[in-house]
Amino acid sequence: MHRINSTAENKIDQHNPLLLKDSVLRLIWREHQISRAEISRQLDLSRSTVTEIIKEILPTGLVAEVGIGKSSGGRKPILLQFQDDAKVILGIDIGATHVSVAMTNLRGKLLLWKERNFPVREDAEGTFNVIDELCNECLSTMKHGPNMLLSIGVSVPSPVDPIHPEYLSETIIPAWHGKSGLERLREKYGVPVYLDNDANLGALAENWWGAGKNVNDLIYIKISSGVGAGYIFGGKLYRGSKGIAGEMSHMPIDPNGRLCGCGLRGCLATVISAWALKERIGTLSNLYPDSHLLNGSPTIIDIENAALDGDPLAIQIVNEATTYLTSAITSLVNLMNPDMIIIGGSLSRLGELVINPIQEKIDLCALVSSVTKTKLVTSTLGSKGIAIGAATMAIEQAFIDPKILRENSVPAVLK
Ligand SMILES: [Zn+2]
Repeated sequence: MHRINSTAENKIDQHNPLLLKDSVLRLIWREHQISRAEISRQLDLSRSTVTEIIKEILPTGLVAEVGIGKSSGGRKPILLQFQDDAKVILGIDIGATHVSVAMTNLRGKLLLWKERNFPVREDAEGTFNVIDELCNECLSTMKHGPNMLLSIGVSVPSPVDPIHPEYLSETIIPAWHGKSGLERLREKYGVPVYLDNDANLGALAENWWGAGKNVNDLIYIKISSGVGAGYIFGGKLYRGSKGIAGEMSHMPIDPNGRLCGCGLRGCLATVISAWALKERIGTLSNLYPDSHLLNGSPTIIDIENAALDGDPLAIQIVNEATTYLTSAITSLVNLMNPDMIIIGGSLSRLGELVINPIQEKIDLCALVSSVTKTKLVTSTLGSKGIAIGAATMAIEQAFIDPKILRENSVPAVLK
């Protein structure tokens, strides 16, 4: 994994035993399986130092001796394997109208999924009760219950200031009165809790495990109640100075368009957010009296399904949205020159119906299209990507600061 420190970066102060142990742990995680001799070679450590460190790491249960590796002449070495299932992580996706929880192992593998629709924006207390219930449902399935929990990652539908993650915008989720609830979760579960914006975490998840795996420069766009983007530049998340980078909702698209909540006219959110698409059904209903979308109160998923079934009203709505999205995306491509743009959230299930017209336009409009082409794809992790991204952030932190692993690493069975 490119994000976890490279070998060169791992060559650290050999007189600090904790840092040495952290580097060895990171390396074993990155390589999955590795021999002591290879650790010694990659980290430039003596064989006896590696032997001592491994002796200390083995009782934690994070690493185990497994099988025999290939010999380069002498005795065949015993391999050490990182134990991905030694601990679990909870990734919580708090959306505008739902809460989802992904329980993963230490390599991002989804072990359990729980979700519930809930009026998150209007009821902060109720939201925390739902989070508690879903987290407890996940942890109760583990043999050693909460002892297995290493840390928690949380996604919120709001920018998060990396310096002050305990505060959130009151404009976006008013009933929360500017509090993120970070401390409350820390106290309740007694583990580190990390918080970030949903689009950032969607980008992180796609970059580690999904469509953007091993892509160094990508932009993930999430269309939901607003329009957000997560930027990965040089293999790392770019958040901006106050965590607002990628907030696309208020990109000006139509100067004569409708008034937006922000006070400007024709912002992107007024034409392609989930509520704007639903509103178009009513506006266009006279033109398509036979559309199935005119029955009941259709959701975004209904619009997607109808478009896939060839419903002309749904197709017009999707085509209009695609045209607006194309304007925003070609601007981003020319400004940021990413290798890949990943569409997540609403509309991403439509695949080629959305991707093809935008890709054609990008190829025509992008300033440097003759030199490099930006690939446009839909998310491969789908609606679970944000919660998985929240868990991924917690995994990333555990290896940036492995003392979290050291301090929480006594296997539940030994406690
Ligand atoms: Zn606006």
